[in-house]
Amino acid sequence: MHEYSIVQSLLDIIEEHVHKHKAKSVRKVVVKVGVLSGVEPHLLQIAFDTFKEGTVCDQAILDMHIQPIIARCRSCGEKNEYAKDQIFFECQKCGNVDLEILEGEDMLLMSLEME
Ligand SMILES: [Zn+2]
Repeated sequence: MHEYSIVQSLLDIIEEHVHKHKAKSVRKVVVKVGVLSGVEPHLLQIAFDTFKEGTVCDQAILDMHIQPIIARCRSCGEKNEYAKDQIFFECQKCGNVDLEILEGEDMLLMSLEME
């Protein structure tokens, strides 16, 4: 599962932050998981718990913020929100299907609580 490689690169990034701030360990890792990112939150949790052992994140908790899809209608400009991935998106105001996805496609590290 690709969550394993995602967590490994996440831990690399976190390790860099910890060194840069001369911190000892991480208490909390806050990530944003877009519903279109292809990342399964429960698999991400399992991967995190598996790989954090022996790293600076050993005692850290993973706080996931699920980011819904935000898409702007190219016709009327309405910003639509969709809670989950679906086959077909249409503007909730005018029914147009030409939408620009603004949010929900990526997974990002948002913040770290270090000590
Ligand atoms: Zn519209």
